[in-house]
Amino acid sequence: MTGLFARQALTAKGWGQNVRIVTDAGRITSIETGSKPQDDDVIGGIVIPGLANAHSHAFQRALAGHTEQRGPESKDNFWSWRSRMYELAGRIDAQSLLAVARQVYTEMVATGYTSVAEFHYLHNEPGDSDPSPAMFEAIATAARDAGIRLTYVPILYERAGLNEAGPTVDQKRFALTVDKFLEHYKNAAEQSGGSFQTGIGAHSLRAVTAESLKKIAAVAKRDGVPMHIHIAEQQREVEQCLDVMGARPVEWLLENFDVDESWCLVHATHVDEVELSAIAKCRAVVCLCPSTEANLGDGLFPLQRFLEEDGQIAIGSDSHVSINPFEELRWLEYGQRLVSQRRNVAAIRRAQTGRSLFESAVTGGAAACGHADGQLSIGANADLMVLDDDSPMLAGHTTRSLLDALVFSGFTLPIDRIMVNGEWQVTNGRHRNKEVAEEAYLTVAKELRLDEVAL
Ligand SMILES: [Zn+2]
Repeated sequence: MTGLFARQALTAKGWGQNVRIVTDAGRITSIETGSKPQDDDVIGGIVIPGLANAHSHAFQRALAGHTEQRGPESKDNFWSWRSRMYELAGRIDAQSLLAVARQVYTEMVATGYTSVAEFHYLHNEPGDSDPSPAMFEAIATAARDAGIRLTYVPILYERAGLNEAGPTVDQKRFALTVDKFLEHYKNAAEQSGGSFQTGIGAHSLRAVTAESLKKIAAVAKRDGVPMHIHIAEQQREVEQCLDVMGARPVEWLLENFDVDESWCLVHATHVDEVELSAIAKCRAVVCLCPSTEANLGDGLFPLQRFLEEDGQIAIGSDSHVSINPFEELRWLEYGQRLVSQRRNVAAIRRAQTGRSLFESAVTGGAAACGHADGQLSIGANADLMVLDDDSPMLAGHTTRSLLDALVFSGFTLPIDRIMVNGEWQVTNGRHRNKEVAEEAYLTVAKELRLDEVAL
């Protein structure tokens, strides 16, 4: 049992002063406002819920910074980035995946992500066509070492495109038959418990057949787990979908599947107004990954209208060009400001933009990871962050604007402690496993020789 006394805390009931939170066996067992600290309590400044990183490809952390040079044809876009990413994927084995994933998960916890949905399609070891238990174990071990709550989302990848029967040579690394995939999912799901659980998903409409997608969606419904899919990230995908299926991607999905709040639609960048309203209405979560979407030149999701229609959003760091949830929230708003020439566009749920975005990401992220609502309440997961209330970033801010300062001040995060599943992973601003993670990662990053990938 752990007692935490916070001078200020944001719980499911709103901001409170002098809040004593007790946790036991990974859950919050008591919250008392207007309380006093007890002997052995940890004393903290400001306590807020941890955030979910609802979309991660852990292995891509090793590619960050290696694709920022103009290619020979000066036509760099998502597709040219993807071919470089495939070169990296071809070099990653279970051992290097463990080191890269442990590093990125450790970085996530240190910046306030307390859970992650790992959208994992790198199932096979190099040269193999069956899913390797070692690749899955690398992800699960990395999450345990970093102390992050993991929703493992195995992903089916079958084919190169809507009109293609199979994968390209590059994609063979992660391609599976639907039967092998479902067997892999079953094995992973049997290990659920504690801070590990599963979701399930398909890479995209272009990468799986409608028949396979139906089977996966049926398993998600049967098991009550979140169902994830990339959708409408690129204009080219929309055009191909119109050509081959006679409908836009989101339009086709919503017409052919019973999409509900258990679905996580990743990106959904290129949607028209009808599709946007339909997503909001069916309560599916749209996972936005602003730093990656900007890095890849994907386009801009129509956030304001979606929030006005009470749509649910989550955030993800996706390719990990940035690992900072507050930066994701900042750029979510800034993209809208740049395109609309207005300010405080996302301040729809509340007048404060930072608080609105933060609270939306807490609840939407929890839904995408298959958790309860993510807020601090009795019975909830004991996943939280303790902020230093002596930090210059927060000086002069009351509870009215504290979260706005966190999102929009853009400097070193004033994180004192992070708790996941009732255990302290970060104390005095330092992750307990930082050195171990870094040492292994430094070796692997050099061995991967990724500067060759960009040439
Ligand atoms: Zn992705």
